[in-house]
Amino acid sequence: MALRLFNTLTRTEEEFRPIEDNHVRMYTCGPTVYDFAHIGNFRAYTFEDVLRRYLKYKGYRVTQVMNLTDIDDKTIRGCQAEKIPLDQYTARYKKAFFEDIDSLRIERAEIYPEATKHIGEMVAIIAKLRAKGIAYEMNGSIYFKISSFPEYGKLSHMDISQLKAGARVASDEYEKEQVSDFALWKAWDESDGPVFWETEIGKGRPGWHIECSAMSTKYLGNHFDIHCGGIDNMFPHHENEIAQTEAATGEKFVNYWLHNDHLVVEGRKMAKSFGNFFTLRQILKRGYPAVAVRYLLMSTHYRQQLNFTFDGLEAAKAAIERLHDFVGNLGAVSGGKLNPVVDELINRVLADFETALDSDLNMSAALGAVFDFVRDINRLIHDKHMSEVDAKKVISTMARFDTVLAVLQREDAALDAEIEEMIDRRNQARKNKNFAESDRVRDELLAKGIVLEDTPLGTKWKRKL
Ligand code: AMP
Ligand code: ZN
Repeated sequence: MALRLFNTLTRTEEEFRPIEDNHVRMYTCGPTVYDFAHIGNFRAYTFEDVLRRYLKYKGYRVTQVMNLTDIDDKTIRGCQAEKIPLDQYTARYKKAFFEDIDSLRIERAEIYPEATKHIGEMVAIIAKLRAKGIAYEMNGSIYFKISSFPEYGKLSHMDISQLKAGARVASDEYEKEQVSDFALWKAWDESDGPVFWETEIGKGRPGWHIECSAMSTKYLGNHFDIHCGGIDNMFPHHENEIAQTEAATGEKFVNYWLHNDHLVVEGRKMAKSFGNFFTLRQILKRGYPAVAVRYLLMSTHYRQQLNFTFDGLEAAKAAIERLHDFVGNLGAVSGGKLNPVVDELINRVLADFETALDSDLNMSAALGAVFDFVRDINRLIHDKHMSEVDAKKVISTMARFDTVLAVLQREDAALDAEIEEMIDRRNQARKNKNFAESDRVRDELLAKGIVLEDTPLGTKWKRKL
């Protein structure tokens, strides 16, 4: 079946067809590295990870670009408050960002361009827009004239007929009511301190929106498949990206615009500025595994609001434990007669999982199908209607789902230490010729999904998934 995705540009669900056969080029707006990201931000990155993984599951090659915004009003304010150079300040949060996405099992994008390393590309687009008469200078700053781009508003579907001609906004973030010409380039002033670039368009720094136009087209071409971000990025950020890029290139910029809804707390968007946020680190400190956060963030359909609660996080943790126990039970099945019902259940769950994700990544339905499968197979195991060969097939089906879900692998170092300790105990028992004990420990490990292999170099272990 074909993958269908809801395109914000057309406000309809459309069949996804990449421009290049079998190759998907996608751009995902990345973090502003001025602080630790909060778990609302990670809802966006987790959704993008599920999209990326499912495209790969369907056999596409994916080239994903995610920018790092390491120059903007907030990063400048941050480095000045600490009296350290901008790059030293942002390096800390870049490092933290990669640690966090690794612990959430978010696959790495192919390219992470940094805004400060692409000033030349941004200047080139701005110079082109000026040459075309679409951008103009005012007190050393350069603005995009939105009246020169008649399609302005096509993404956020707003009526710009009421627009006040000549109104300008310099800040990067503003509301729909303030729709007006926006800054491509900001002239240096004293509050920027040592942060500026001397360029052919003057001394200053880029606006936020132009960063994404420059870095997406550099690595993905003028026209590519998918652009993602949180719904708050639709206006003004993505609307402005479309205007400046299409005005400069004369080509269509992006085919599919995908926006995730917010992680909210008591009905309000989780945001630094509202003070109602948790960083991933804060959650981990409370003893929750990162994979429970991943599960929580991805288990609600990405276009629905998700209300964050610790009860929800507990439920996510319990769901993962159920999956881990399931795989453990399967690993303990031995011998037995083949049961054709298992193949039927596998075919059904594969079809249901894929139908759900093909329908605009309906993850809650996909997980529903997986848990129905878990219940049915567990019943067969309990009734001893399950053979070892069937169990292996179920395990490989679960491993296939896990290329998208990425929750089955057990994580923590504490667990590794526990396994090592059990292996030592088993080896000691073997040395003492206490085979009952050594077999018992081996079975206990098997139930945890750990397989042992005795080699001339000692006992090795691996996880079944
Ligand atoms: P920022 O660093 O603010 O540019 O945000 C990075 C990404 O996180 C963007 O795609 C935002 O739209 C997204 N985002 C920010 N807050 C939330 C939230 N509460 N829920 C979901 N996504 C969010
Ligand atoms: Zn962006």
